[in-house]
Amino acid sequence: MMGMKKSEVYDLLNLAEDYLQDGFRRERPPLSRDSEAVNDPASPPTPEQVLARIAEQVAGCTRCSLHRERSHTVPGEGATAPLVIVIGEGPGADEDRSGRPFVGRAGQYLDRWLAAVGLDRRSNCFIGNIVKCRPPGNRDPLPEESAACLPYLERQIAVLRPRAILAVGRIATQILCGRSEGIGQLRSMELEYRGIPVVATYHPSAVLRNTELRAPVWEDLKRLQALPVLRA
Ligand code: SF4
Repeated sequence: MMGMKKSEVYDLLNLAEDYLQDGFRRERPPLSRDSEAVNDPASPPTPEQVLARIAEQVAGCTRCSLHRERSHTVPGEGATAPLVIVIGEGPGADEDRSGRPFVGRAGQYLDRWLAAVGLDRRSNCFIGNIVKCRPPGNRDPLPEESAACLPYLERQIAVLRPRAILAVGRIATQILCGRSEGIGQLRSMELEYRGIPVVATYHPSAVLRNTELRAPVWEDLKRLQALPVLRA
């Protein structure tokens, strides 16, 4: 494993673990939901089973120092055949208490954004984070924490196979898309994650603090709604 990045090593270990436990082979998400044919004669596990397995692994995870102060892990939740995955940077205090993503004031605000463009975490949307444990004091996740946790999200995206991703905030967008620009620039760029279009916007917490960001967020949501992959 010499010369490999830490995230690539974790990725390989996850793949081996999945294979040994479930016989599940991860694949890159396809470009279109039309190519959903599964040719594995060994009846691979359902998305629900894979997500439950990931949540179990996350619950016992000690890969980075964030496990020390968490009350609950927050693996993510939502539809198992989503049109869109929403990705933030990490759980806050409300999420740490409940074990659910985006449930505080910012989460309720996010739910209103999604409803405005026909999305809902109960029917066609999945919500997750780059790191699954709360960074103390809501600080940004450190690079080593993001690298340690990212393979969980990668596996979730691989099994959920969304048509599009909505990245909320600079950290989530930078890590997911391997960019370094600020969110003001990122939201005007055409981004993708492994062939899946990514729309970047501000984090709902930032918009609650600065209402001038409401108009740009609405533009971003309309951009998301207009993506050809969501209109097919
Ligand atoms: S943040 Fe992720 S990698 Fe770190 S302990 Fe929690 S689940 Fe594990």
